[in-house]
Amino acid sequence: MRHLIRTDDFSIEEINELFQDAERFSDGRFERILQDKIIITLFFENSTRTKSSFEIAAKRLGAEVIHLDVTKSSTKKGETLTDTAANLEAMGPNAIIIRHQNAGVPKILSQHANAAIINAGDGAHAHPTQALLDLFTMHQHFDNLKDKRIAIVGDIKNSRVANSNIELLTRYGLDVTLVAPPQFMPKTTLKTTDSLTSIIDKVDIIMSLRTQTERHSYPIYASLKDYASDFCITKELLGDRDILIMHPGPVHRNVDIDDALLDDPRSKVLNQVKNGVLIRMAVLKKLIGNV
Ligand code: ASP
Repeated sequence: MRHLIRTDDFSIEEINELFQDAERFSDGRFERILQDKIIITLFFENSTRTKSSFEIAAKRLGAEVIHLDVTKSSTKKGETLTDTAANLEAMGPNAIIIRHQNAGVPKILSQHANAAIINAGDGAHAHPTQALLDLFTMHQHFDNLKDKRIAIVGDIKNSRVANSNIELLTRYGLDVTLVAPPQFMPKTTLKTTDSLTSIIDKVDIIMSLRTQTERHSYPIYASLKDYASDFCITKELLGDRDILIMHPGPVHRNVDIDDALLDDPRSKVLNQVKNGVLIRMAVLKKLIGNV
């Protein structure tokens, strides 16, 4: 059984196939190939986009989706997560989509699972379907992604989206620069800076990230306003430059990206959401479709 825990679980050839499927799906060319499949979602952390995106993807392909309400699950009664998962497994689902605040949980489950385990975000570690949909969104805009220059801006150190994107984008040959204040910068061999103005003429894509306050053990900035004054991507900063603006959501308006730029056609934030469904359909087809 294949699982999707990290982006490097899939080769470039496999990812290119996912993109071909996603393109077909975007033209409405798909059938109910998952009609007899059962998928469980298990979200221990909040989610708006990812959970509904997976659900829509699964249902478009004809699967049944069961959401386990973790606030009412037996892990709350002291059952270990592996026991809960083993019990769910015994009911024979085809896939379990899991989000957890602790890095490594989906990997551990995958070591005992007969169902396909799909990581929908684990701590600050990985969010593979987000990075795949981000890359797919870039692929729709550029004939060739190799050597395209991207700045990832914000709380990179605490971001699973950044982690997964860095692995995937560098594998596809993009030129990645990390832009963050020192407290949000991970240890890295990539180019780094804390100055947006220094990179603005040298990039084709900017990916802004939310400050992951839920993962900070103490307030890192006196206020998000202070952070925004240095790191918010504004329409004024962009001027008339042809740069793709991306964000995984949820966006902190006027902290990560300003209102004016979010309404600008260069902002691809809602395209990313749309592509999320297509990519998740392609991932489900790959992991549990028998075609
Ligand atoms: N939605 C993304 C995630 O789950 C990004 C974020 O929350 O900032 O990691």
